[in-house]
Amino acid sequence: MQAVVLREYGPPENLKWETVPTPEPQAGEALLRVGAVSVDLFQMEFRSGRALKIELPRIMGNGPAGEVAKLGPGAEGVAPGQRVVVCNNVSCGMCKYCRIGRETLCAGLNNHRGGMIGAHRNGGYAEYVTVPARNLLPLPESVSYEQACLIPNTIGPVVKACTGRARIRAGESVLIVGAGGGMGIHAVQAARACGGRVIAAIRSERKSQAVRDSGADVVLSTSQSSWPEEVRRRTDGWGADVVLDFVASGDTLKASLAALAPAGRLVIMGFFPRGSVLETPTWVFTEEREITGNRSAGRQDVAESVALIQNGRIKPLVSKIFPLKEAVQAHRAFEAGEITGRAVLVP
Ligand SMILES: [Zn+2]
Repeated sequence: MQAVVLREYGPPENLKWETVPTPEPQAGEALLRVGAVSVDLFQMEFRSGRALKIELPRIMGNGPAGEVAKLGPGAEGVAPGQRVVVCNNVSCGMCKYCRIGRETLCAGLNNHRGGMIGAHRNGGYAEYVTVPARNLLPLPESVSYEQACLIPNTIGPVVKACTGRARIRAGESVLIVGAGGGMGIHAVQAARACGGRVIAAIRSERKSQAVRDSGADVVLSTSQSSWPEEVRRRTDGWGADVVLDFVASGDTLKASLAALAPAGRLVIMGFFPRGSVLETPTWVFTEEREITGNRSAGRQDVAESVALIQNGRIKPLVSKIFPLKEAVQAHRAFEAGEITGRAVLVP
């Protein structure tokens, strides 16, 4: 089969188009014919060697969508020919957190027993990939592969943040910091789907119209130093009931806390440590504010996201589709900030 192989951490050019053996599904696994796989920030960090240090070569590509081609011995729950999307965490199913439905905190995610598809084990930058059959969720005909591949690592995590970590209720004000990014712009939609009134904070004016089109009621520029006060002004002086901070730098975290209402929930969505220190003011105590984080999406979040797309409440924003063999160009376009929403690779 054809695949994009990373043999050495570094720039986009290190993604090589190669002919490699088609994998055979082992016990409990399914062979997926990849229909589409999305391009995201984690992949930039992984390719460059900033995210994880794992022995290469590796076929990247978290959370692909496609069709079941073949089942390994004992694989159950799906059938050849079925359209599916791949939940990205290979969790153990046995530890304390897996047992309470918090498999994104699985103790096995960072060791040889589990991990992330597209990082700890091969992913969807290929014509075929083998994955544990229990990681597959069925897709309705109305959701395309190009749309579905945004679910595991973009739409699923923001749905989890809005419904689970932040518990957004109808009528609440929701500030989204970094709303112009691939996750942020889908968070605007997810917060709206929960009944929230969305205030979007963006760095680049270029994304302003797309953020409005996704349902933001107010769009503020973080280049104006007074933007946290503007959030207060737009919320009758109280501040936002929920803040989702996708940037999570020292500056934005400070501003996010300053814009948070009493009883408000701040959800930190940043992936990578950027040396930011969060000094918690006493009002976390005196006004019962909550600070929490949000990791990747679990199976439940992926299933909920499929339903939200199926009934039209979230529309996956795919601005560019590249043939898989142009993965280098797709990574360059991502790093140049040319992608609104997500770019998708199709084998
Ligand atoms: Zn576990």
